[in-house]
Amino acid sequence: MTMRIAILGAGPSGLAQLRAFESARRAGAEVPEIVCYEKQSDLGGMWNYTWRTGLDAYGEPVHGSMYRYLWSNGPKEALEFADYSFEEHFGRPIASYPPRAVLRDYIMGRIEKSGVRDQIRFNMAVQWVEYSAQTGRFTVTVRDLKKDELVTEQFDRVIVATGHFSTPNAPFFEGLERFPGRVLHAHDFRDACEFTGKDLLLVGSSYSAEDIGTQCYKYGAKSVTFSYRSAPMGYDWPATFDERPLLLRLEDDIAHFADGSSRKVDAIVLCTGYQHHFPFLCDELTLRTRNRLYPGDLYKGVFWIDNPKLVYLGMQDQYYTFNMFDAQAWYVRDEILGRVTLPDTTTMRADSEAWVAREEATTSVEEDIDFQTTYVRDLLDATDYPDFNVEAVAALFKEWKHDKQADILGYRNHSYRSVLTGTLAPPHHTPWMEAMNDTLEAFLADREVEDVRKIA
Ligand SMILES: Cc1cc2nc3c(=O)[nH]c(=O)nc-3n(C[C@H](O)[C@H](O)[C@H](O)COP(=O)(O)OP(=O)(O)OC[C@H]3O[C@@H](n4cnc5c(N)ncnc54)[C@H](O)[C@@H]3O)c2cc1C
Repeated sequence: MTMRIAILGAGPSGLAQLRAFESARRAGAEVPEIVCYEKQSDLGGMWNYTWRTGLDAYGEPVHGSMYRYLWSNGPKEALEFADYSFEEHFGRPIASYPPRAVLRDYIMGRIEKSGVRDQIRFNMAVQWVEYSAQTGRFTVTVRDLKKDELVTEQFDRVIVATGHFSTPNAPFFEGLERFPGRVLHAHDFRDACEFTGKDLLLVGSSYSAEDIGTQCYKYGAKSVTFSYRSAPMGYDWPATFDERPLLLRLEDDIAHFADGSSRKVDAIVLCTGYQHHFPFLCDELTLRTRNRLYPGDLYKGVFWIDNPKLVYLGMQDQYYTFNMFDAQAWYVRDEILGRVTLPDTTTMRADSEAWVAREEATTSVEEDIDFQTTYVRDLLDATDYPDFNVEAVAALFKEWKHDKQADILGYRNHSYRSVLTGTLAPPHHTPWMEAMNDTLEAFLADREVEDVRKIA
């Protein structure tokens, strides 16, 4: 009987897995039957923009947390697929910080060239996954959203690639329920223009707060106040920005902070992170972790140690994204194809714990970058994924951090060199603060074009 594999989710991680098997098949290997279930109507995961918030057209939680005018928050050279360069896709060099639609086009391009779309079943939301020790197989129950029918199938392996930036972590602050303005989590943020002319409070001090704050400033927010729990971001902000310690409570539209200060605000965005959430998995199979570089209970950061027939892709906190998902997917593929053998449970657990301990010993962003670089290198060395200079990518990340620190509103104007092609990216035709149009067409044009508010 042919081995059957279920991949849950067709975002960059799930697509990496499809691509990994397809490259083996093209090289002559016999590969298992693969079914990829995706609850959205198209592939691309988070990069597939939706205007919806809350529930989708079928009553499923909306996956998307991306918003209009989102530009890559790291250089594209740091996430480039080693088997498909940006230059190959676009036919010419492009600037280092593309908007969402451009990255989506790149993700789609590789997958369309692989010819694996027919392995994806769209509008299929995974509801429940169970493992039977007796049969050694998984039963996967999926809702066919269009037909409103449950479908159940058996698989030998299950690969969870459902992402972890979709289920909000939304703490309560006293007085929120009486706040007269709009309160939302970053997951539901869609359009900065909604906050033009407003005094905005962003609770949080990580990527979401920083990016939503700078974007709202770009599109005309009157002021942006960040409230941090442990430390301020400390960038050299323009005068209309402010960083305050933790929000304690709200009295009407006045926000009170831990240092005794207060200020009137019109709207609040909770940039307070996301939860790893797998409502379709039974307890014994559920990964429970905060957002960290090395979630425990996973061997090589992917195999569920208690039952390695279950795999999790992309569950790490991420400096590396697309190329790390590829490195993981190639490794998983090779284990499934019998090219890599897993050690016994005790050895896997000891190995995983050693990585966790190493992660816990890091004390700076640079060390975190080096940690994830070592992790990616470890995976790369074990497979035939095209080797790329991951250490040079680490240097790019450090340069990016430095560029951000030096100029939070201008770092996206920098250019970096591809470690694959050696090409230095050309500058974008328009500085990021003035580039209001985030479409693919505007990005690829030779000058800024009027924003026709088109979503790719
Ligand atoms: C606001 C925001 C900005 C970001 N910006 C960047 C950036 O600039 N650069 C970068 O490299 N990364 C960025 N990221 C990180 C981004 O998450 C990764 O780039 C990437 O999308 C992760 O891929 P993934 O496949 O693991 O998960 P996702 O992209 O989240 O894809 C998961 C897929 O699983 C599907 N799914 C979920 N549950 C089910 C179910 N029950 N049944 C069927 N299908 C299901 C979803 O519909 C989705 O298609 C950003 C993330 C966010 C939230």
